[in-house]
Amino acid sequence: SAPLAVEDIRADFPILEREFDGTPLVYLDNAATSQTPDQVVDAIVEYYRTYNSNVHRGIHQLSQEASIAYEEAHDRVAEFIGAESREEIVFTKNTTESMNLVAYAWGLNELGPGDEVVLTEMEHHASLVTWQQVAKRTGATVKFVRVDDEGYLDMDHARELITDDTEMVSVVHISNTLGTINPVADLADLAHDHDAYMFVDGAQSVPTRPVDVGEIDADFLAFSGHKMCGPTGIGVLYGKEPILDAMQPYLYGGDMIRKVTFEESTWNELPWKFEAGTPNICQGIALAEAIDYLEDIGMDRVQAHEEQLAEYAYDRLSEFEDIEIYGPPGDDRGGLVAFNLDAVHAHDTSEILNEFAVAVRAGDHCTQPLHDKLGAPASARASFYIYNTREEVDKLVEALADARELFA
Ligand code: PMP
Repeated sequence: SAPLAVEDIRADFPILEREFDGTPLVYLDNAATSQTPDQVVDAIVEYYRTYNSNVHRGIHQLSQEASIAYEEAHDRVAEFIGAESREEIVFTKNTTESMNLVAYAWGLNELGPGDEVVLTEMEHHASLVTWQQVAKRTGATVKFVRVDDEGYLDMDHARELITDDTEMVSVVHISNTLGTINPVADLADLAHDHDAYMFVDGAQSVPTRPVDVGEIDADFLAFSGHKMCGPTGIGVLYGKEPILDAMQPYLYGGDMIRKVTFEESTWNELPWKFEAGTPNICQGIALAEAIDYLEDIGMDRVQAHEEQLAEYAYDRLSEFEDIEIYGPPGDDRGGLVAFNLDAVHAHDTSEILNEFAVAVRAGDHCTQPLHDKLGAPASARASFYIYNTREEVDKLVEALADARELFA
């Protein structure tokens, strides 16, 4: 397929025209949050200017318009990830909340001593800390599949750890630190062989490649709108309908009920059973617009663009003899590269890069135990999206060369 028309895409993102002291912004922090195209901003403005209203409970015209748009946004998300229907699509505020929802609604009720949750050493804190806490409260045990020296999951270890005691396998699809693309379909097979559920953390994969829940056979999938051209405040939990159906609610209150008496309450149908109170209506509608935007480009082409930039960045960064790049080779990773220059703290690196208007992230990227294992308290991370160019990667490399001189 044809490469992305990056110049046309950039025209939809006025923020990319910003300059700092005359130096144009190079935005390489997309794994944290992507930028928002005019089409999505316009959808937000249109919502507040023309049909802002609460959903579900109104009979008046505005409420009907908002309700239809909000409900259809669930359909749009369902279609995007190959879910069967809107019943399988719960809107949350982000990936973190999606994980906590399952941890609370399923984990706290279903897990007990002797049960095991299998994660990997490269999980984001959103999953690692959440399951750690559920385990503490239920007496269940958390186990971690090893990451090997190249940054791949040790699948032999996974086969060892996933047993009939396993109730949940939760794995990050693309590591936000290593860039590793994990074999989630194989892991789902393993989980299902032992009657365990498979939870896929799609925070980095859903924005950057076609992800079909049927193909990977995930029981749950979580992702965030703000990493895929949508606004903050909207995330998604996909769950297979029979599983969601059997789960207890997570939050109680308005909208999630069917019938309430002083003694007893019953629950609304899916997905509303899990969307208590006034939801992020506008953000949900805007997420559907973001999906339209990405699908107009084509997720296959988004993926190809990501992978090409990651490989190019990996190769260019490898030119430095005093750099450590974490994770798999350049031609086998998602669209991000985390690294450290010898003897320079990642925070100093990113501070210098900021002087060149190059925005990267420095820190542990919410994977502290993985960083401990890598022997680095922090790393600098460049992450790419649809509007980034090879020229911007060159600017990163030039700025890094200068940073290195400064610290020499
Ligand atoms: N998982 C992964 C792999 C991530 O990269 C992130 C975002 N850094 C999250 C989970 C959490 O996403 P959010 O902050 O939107 O909840």
